[in-house]
Amino acid sequence: MFDVNQLREDFPILSRKVNGQPLVYLDNAATSQTPKQVVEVISDYYYRYNANIHRGVHKLSQEATDAYEKARATIQNHFNAAHPHEIIFTAGTTESINCIASGYASLLKKGDELLISALEHHSNIVPWQMLCEKTGALLKVIPMTLEGTLDMNAFELLLNSKTQLVFVNHVSNALGTINPIQEIIDKAHQKGAKVLIDGAQASPHIKADVQALDVDYYVTSAHKLCGPTGVGMLYGKSALLNALPAYQGGGEMIATVTFEKTTYADLPHKFEAGTPNIAGGIAFGAALDYMNGIGIETIARYEAELLAYATTALQRIDGLKIYGEAKEKTAVISFNVGSIHPYDIGSILDQMGIAVRTGHHCAQPIMDFYKIPGTIRASFSFYNTFEEIDRLEAGIRRAVAMLQ
Ligand SMILES: *Cc1c(COP(=O)(O)O)cnc(C)c1O
Repeated sequence: MFDVNQLREDFPILSRKVNGQPLVYLDNAATSQTPKQVVEVISDYYYRYNANIHRGVHKLSQEATDAYEKARATIQNHFNAAHPHEIIFTAGTTESINCIASGYASLLKKGDELLISALEHHSNIVPWQMLCEKTGALLKVIPMTLEGTLDMNAFELLLNSKTQLVFVNHVSNALGTINPIQEIIDKAHQKGAKVLIDGAQASPHIKADVQALDVDYYVTSAHKLCGPTGVGMLYGKSALLNALPAYQGGGEMIATVTFEKTTYADLPHKFEAGTPNIAGGIAFGAALDYMNGIGIETIARYEAELLAYATTALQRIDGLKIYGEAKEKTAVISFNVGSIHPYDIGSILDQMGIAVRTGHHCAQPIMDFYKIPGTIRASFSFYNTFEEIDRLEAGIRRAVAMLQ
């Protein structure tokens, strides 16, 4: 059974005080907290078998290699990839997207079209703009609606035989909207376009099955799902990854090197140049084990209750406006109160020990769409409680009373 108080004991940070008050951590969409079980996997690696992987004949190197490859298999199983070599370890979502974008530089030509959604994080915008500058390809934007969903009619009109790639996030980090990715993938494939899904915000709440989705590329970061920062993954279909040029040159990614010609290693090593974040990769696997131990569906169900409770609580506050009212959304509430600057409310909440995000949430185009400088974003995780939401509501009321 789901017991939030017992789960909270796995997270020592949740019992610390901030500015003399018990911490209320509601910035989970920026990064999640890390349970003891995952921290212990990291310290165990450094205490017992820290060694470089894939090259050593010695025992420690073999243990490290085994643990790293076991984590790859855990990730493969979690996302139901057909092969372990379709899972590439990266530094995170941002690097995964840059890896694909840089690979397409030699595959695109002038006049090719790329479709992006209006709901993207900057890390799923900027690499494609850079790619368009290099290749002369055109970046077109699937518009959004006032309630914070994608305009799917416009999407269909934008799709055509020149569309090479479509990039959409599975869940918007700024608004929590869950996008209809299956429909997007199916329609894009009908026109021969490939699809990259940014799963960074979805992974803590939704288990994506890459084979069922038939998605071409799926990327995520470990630190949004109880893992460490600086590690993530790129899933790609074998045939596509094989056809893509290597991203970075270096050790580990080669088959043979001479000064005349270098040949590249097979997948996944072709995209894993240099010594990776070994402890991080192992901990990524441990984080998925931890979350699957609770159950992603159990997590999503509890978070949906938190979201419903928090939405009702916040809507009771005079002048509070919520941005992002999609029917399908994760436990994220982006809001403003009257014309008060989000930063001012965020700072007062911080004094009360309540951690929220304020600003554009790396999604400036969404803020421009609503003609606001930013929002206050409270994002919930399975270790948050209903009492914490009561403290958030009381905190906002107090901040508003001080600022008005
Ligand atoms: C967090 C996030 C990213 C960026 O992830 P990094 O770990 O910083 O690379 C990209 N897209 C979405 C939707 C995110 O939530």
